[in-house]
Amino acid sequence: MAIIVKKFGGSSVGSVGQIRAIAHRLARDIRGGDQLVLVVSAMAKTTDELFKLAYEITPHPSRRELDMLLTAGERISMSLLSLSLMEENISSISFTGSQSGIITDDHHGNARIIKVNAFRIQEELAKGKVVIVAGFQGVSTAKEITTLGRGGSDTSAVALACYLGAAKCEIYTDVNGVYTADPRLVPQARFIREIGYLDMLALAYNGSKVLHPRAVEYAYKYKVPVEVRSSLNYAAGTTITREESPKDKAMEERQVNAIAHKEDLMRYRIKPDAKALLLLNKWHHEIFKINLQDQALELFIEAKYESEIDYLLLESGYDQFTKDKDWGFVILVGLGLAADPAFIARVLKLTEHCQIERISHSERSLELMLPSEKVATTVSLLHHEFFGE
Ligand code: ADP
Ligand code: ASP
Ligand code: MG
Repeated sequence: MAIIVKKFGGSSVGSVGQIRAIAHRLARDIRGGDQLVLVVSAMAKTTDELFKLAYEITPHPSRRELDMLLTAGERISMSLLSLSLMEENISSISFTGSQSGIITDDHHGNARIIKVNAFRIQEELAKGKVVIVAGFQGVSTAKEITTLGRGGSDTSAVALACYLGAAKCEIYTDVNGVYTADPRLVPQARFIREIGYLDMLALAYNGSKVLHPRAVEYAYKYKVPVEVRSSLNYAAGTTITREESPKDKAMEERQVNAIAHKEDLMRYRIKPDAKALLLLNKWHHEIFKINLQDQALELFIEAKYESEIDYLLLESGYDQFTKDKDWGFVILVGLGLAADPAFIARVLKLTEHCQIERISHSERSLELMLPSEKVATTVSLLHHEFFGE
């Protein structure tokens, strides 16, 4: 009997109606004989709303208390899904991250998994139950409740799939799978049936929300088979593979496999002194990019965190730092793109009116920094160039 881990994101469990529909649909799969572990996110905008409640009380909430609050979101959806399964006459039980044995470090707000000890899940599966797990959360070795960072339920699902030796980790979301660009921004984006882990990693770390980057990293490291699917139609989605899938006869031609983007970033500049190193050690927020540029440590951070970052810097003794806003990035993902000057010339020509401020690269990406307001048009024109209509 195979163990399958299925993760349902916030948009898939947005209402009681959606949760009941999932239970109804799963009732069929369960009769197929697999053992199911279901990892859930909080309902739709719940996590954002919980954040807002805390900020109504204080502009600088304690990270520990914030984690206590935020983890409530996933507890709501896990119990509602369990109740819905019971209504379908399926024996089920829900567990928090802590009950599931997700052990993390103590970085509240962005904790990393250090161990999984999910024996309670195994015990319940052995009793024939479907186990539902609250994603995005764990417990630190100091027995404090932690969260894994925004979008972290994907990582919970992959970590559990790995521990349980699951045959598959299916990530259900509101799109059919991974596309050549965010389908919300580029309606012509093409569906990708198979994508290599490293391309997926480059996409995820560069802002494609469809998978949490740490989930991809975990899956790559421990060879967890992952598929991204739609909870609207359950059709076969995108499989993340260990192999590259080159276009026919592409040979050594530079090939763009997908385009990622990120808008609305703040750029902070601080002196890279000993204080900065201490600061980075206690940093709890996600940093989109970090560079050493013109003798300054440059941090690109989502603008919504501005007041928290200002506070953090002041608290750390930075009475002087510079910041500016409305930055964005467009990232072409593909092997060795930047190794070809002619390819760079082609991109520069195409984007000559996009106010490109800077270009950087890795072996799997070519990254354009530009004003946030130029991101959407730049993604569209590059997508048109490399993927056609
Ligand atoms: P969930 O609530 O299921 O975790 P997310 O909002 O975190 O869902 O991720 C799904 C979203 O990712 C999609 O609605 C889509 O807008 C966005 N996305 C960004 N880039 C891509 C891409 N290349 N392919 C598919 N979806 C993408
Ligand atoms: N509910 C959390 C968030 O909104 C985790 C997740 O959705 O994966 O970030
Ligand atoms: Mg997500």
